[in-house]
Amino acid sequence: RLIPIGVLLSVLMVGLVMWSLRRRLSPLGELEIAVRKREFIVHYQPIIELASGNCIGAEALVRWMRPDGSLVLPDLFVPLAEDSGLILAITDQVIDEVIKDLGVLLVNDRSVHVAVNLGADDIRTGRIIDVLQQALARSGVEAAQIWLEATERGFINVLPARLTLGNARALGHAVVIDDFGTGYSSLSHLQSLPLDALKIDKTFIDTIGTDSAISSVTPHIIGMARTLFLKIVAEGVETEEQAEYLRRQKVDYAQGWLYAMPMPAAAFIAFHRQNRSAQEVVAKAAQEE
Ligand code: C2E
Ligand code: MG
Ligand code: MG
Ligand code: MG
Repeated sequence: RLIPIGVLLSVLMVGLVMWSLRRRLSPLGELEIAVRKREFIVHYQPIIELASGNCIGAEALVRWMRPDGSLVLPDLFVPLAEDSGLILAITDQVIDEVIKDLGVLLVNDRSVHVAVNLGADDIRTGRIIDVLQQALARSGVEAAQIWLEATERGFINVLPARLTLGNARALGHAVVIDDFGTGYSSLSHLQSLPLDALKIDKTFIDTIGTDSAISSVTPHIIGMARTLFLKIVAEGVETEEQAEYLRRQKVDYAQGWLYAMPMPAAAFIAFHRQNRSAQEVVAKAAQEE
């Protein structure tokens, strides 16, 4: 009677060892488990209206919180998630988290927006529309309060992109082309896409005030966006000099370490509240003058 139990135990042991080896050896296996265990959280980076200094919302940036409490940045797992199709489930979790984290703020203040990054598969399959509609219906958040960011990768399949993003805009979402200038978009391509705003990539912002050859491209990107009646967002703004340049060029919005780093939801809510009251003081002072 003892032998079968011994055999059983060793089979179990071998299984356990193989399972933990697989976990250790395969990043995809690990990511699958993380998706199943819902190990993703969202940090929020404030978006500032350049002309007024108002915080008008935030970009939602996903982080993988490992069981040991460490945070993994998206550049280390989003590419794998994109290639394996796991991005669909991650986007669902991000949208869920955004509503859980900021739903109350969004319902109480309709001027607040959250920009969510979409994967190419979210756009290609179009299922993101249902996910968003359900999230809005159960929370009371308005479609106009959720902006959708798509990189040029998301536009490679032009027809599904037009369909999904066109539907999203018809429902009231704003669509932003992200990391603009790092891909292959041409002007003619750009004007055929359903877009509301263009986000200038940090690479270009970095060159403001330098004599690098790329620095002369930035004004052209701004001019191009304006020709197409797109709002302009600058990402990765780190210096006052860059902000001053962007204000002079009448760029609409900016985000970057100059204003704030990505932060947990509670910190963002506090940041937004503080920005609101500071801006009220500024407005009052201007009125009294
Ligand atoms: P992104 O959408 O272009 O986001 C901006 C990235 O720049 C963020 O990195 C942000 O933390 C960083 N950043 C912002 N301001 C500054 C600055 O002043 N200086 C510097 N050096 N960096 C700044 P993060 O959070 O590591 O995200 C990296 C990329 O991962 C994102 O680039 C986006 O493409 C992707 N990503 C993030 N969250 C999601 C998500 O929920 N879904 C999908 N599909 N992709 C996501
Ligand atoms: Mg983005
Ligand atoms: Mg970007
Ligand atoms: Mg970028």
